[in-house]
Amino acid sequence: MRRRHPARVTVRPAAAARPAARRSMVAVGLAAALALTGAPGAAGSAAAPAPDPAATAAGDPVLPADAPRTAFEESGGAAWTSLEEEQDFLAAVDAASDRVGLRTLATTAAGRPLQLVQVGSRQLSPREVALRPSILITCLQHGNEPAAREGCLQVVRDLALDDSARTRGLLSRATVLVVPTVNPDGRAANTRANADGVDVNRDHLALETLEAQTVAALVRDYDPELVVDVHEYGGRADVYDRDLIRLWPRNLNVDEGLRARAVELAEDFVDPVVEAGGWSTGVYGIWNGPGGEPIAQVAGDGDERIMRNAVGLKHTVGQLTESQVRALAPDEQADPRVNANRRVETNVLALRGSLDMLRTRGGELRRETDAAEREATRLGAAGEGRIALGGADNEPPAADRLLLEPPCAYVLTAEQHEAVAQTLALHDVATTPTGEADGSVEVPMGQPARGVIPLLLDERATYALVPAAPVACG
Ligand SMILES: [Zn+2]
Repeated sequence: MRRRHPARVTVRPAAAARPAARRSMVAVGLAAALALTGAPGAAGSAAAPAPDPAATAAGDPVLPADAPRTAFEESGGAAWTSLEEEQDFLAAVDAASDRVGLRTLATTAAGRPLQLVQVGSRQLSPREVALRPSILITCLQHGNEPAAREGCLQVVRDLALDDSARTRGLLSRATVLVVPTVNPDGRAANTRANADGVDVNRDHLALETLEAQTVAALVRDYDPELVVDVHEYGGRADVYDRDLIRLWPRNLNVDEGLRARAVELAEDFVDPVVEAGGWSTGVYGIWNGPGGEPIAQVAGDGDERIMRNAVGLKHTVGQLTESQVRALAPDEQADPRVNANRRVETNVLALRGSLDMLRTRGGELRRETDAAEREATRLGAAGEGRIALGGADNEPPAADRLLLEPPCAYVLTAEQHEAVAQTLALHDVATTPTGEADGSVEVPMGQPARGVIPLLLDERATYALVPAAPVACG
C-alpha cells in the first residue's frame, strides 16, 4: 500500500522558484548573511496542486499492504501517537522487518525508555556502524513538538519495509539510527523541558540530563556522518510562516568544510524534497519581509549548548529542522487534522531529503569527517588556527572572544577532573595524567575534540564547566 499523502487533500501555495545562483556557504556579518539567505519558498496566494510526490527527488516508499501504521495515521491526523502506541508500533515494525534493531539506551526517572532504532541490511555493532556511512536522527527533544516524533516513526517504518531499489541500496551501504522520542517524559507531560524542567537542547555541552548524555554517547560510539535533529516551531503569519525551516551549525569552531556540507544538506537535499511536496522552506531563526527578503534574525546562533552546534563541533554534518506549528491557512484553521498532517508530512519529506544525502554522498562524507578529525588533531597539537568563544558564521566574534594563539593543552586539578570526568568521556575528550603527585590531569588540544575542549574548560568561555589552566604551546 502506498502511504497516503496529506498534501494532496489540501490546496497549498506552490513553493517559489529557487534562486539560480548558489548561496555562499559562509557569510560574515548579519547583513551579509541575511542578504545571502535568498528568497525562500514564498507563501504566495496563487493556489496550485501539489506535484506528484512520486516524481520528487526522494519518492514515496513501496510498502506492503499490511505495513504497520501509527496511531496518528490511523486517526487521519486527529490524535498523536501515544507513548504506549509507539511501543506497539515499533514492535510491529520490528516483527515485520529483518532490517530493524530496537535497543533501550536508558530509562528516565519516571521509568520511560529512551530507545534507539537501528535500520540496516544487517545489524552491526557500534564499532561496525562507525566504519560505514550513517545518519543519526533525533526526534522530540522538546516534548511539546509532537509532529517531529510522528514523522520519525513513519520514516522508521518506511525504511524498515520499503522494497524500492533506492532504500535497499541505501541500507546495504549505510546505517540509519533513529531515536524517535528523546524526551518521553516531556511528551507525557506535553512540556518543552524534561521531567526536571531542563531544556534538553541547551544541555549538549554540560550533559547534565540523561537525555543529552544519551545523545552524546550515540554520537561518540556510532560516529555518524549526518546528524539531524527534528523539531517544531511556532511561526507568525506576517514574517515567520515557512512550513519547514532548517539550519546548519553556526558555531565558528565547526570545520568549515563540514559546515559547507551542512549548508548543502539544507539547500540541495532538504529543501528540494520539501518544496516538491508543495511546501515552503526557509532558514531557522530568520524573519522574512513581504517580498520574502530576510529582515531580522530571532534565533539560531552559535550557542555550543545546542545540539545542532554541538554535533557540528564533533565533526558531523549537523542539521536542525523545524515544522511550523500554527494554523495560519484557512484550511488548517477549519480542520486541525489538516494542520497536523502538514506538520508531519513536512518532517517526513525533510528526513527523506537527508537520507538522500546519506545515500548519494555517504562515502564522501565518511572520508571528509575523518579528515576533519585529523585536521583538528593537527591544529590542536601545533597550536595553529584560532578558537572562537563566541560569534557565529553570520556574526563575527568580538576581539576578546577569539583565542588567536590557542593553548596546546589544559590542566585540570584532581578536584576539577573528578567533577568533569564523565562529561569529558561522553564528549570523547582524551586525558592523560600529568604525573604530578597532586593527581592533576592534562587535556591535550591535539585530538579531534579540539573545537569543544576550550568551550568546556577555558574560563573565558561562556558556559565553561571548570576554569582549567591553559598550557601555552612550545
Ligand atoms: Zn524544539
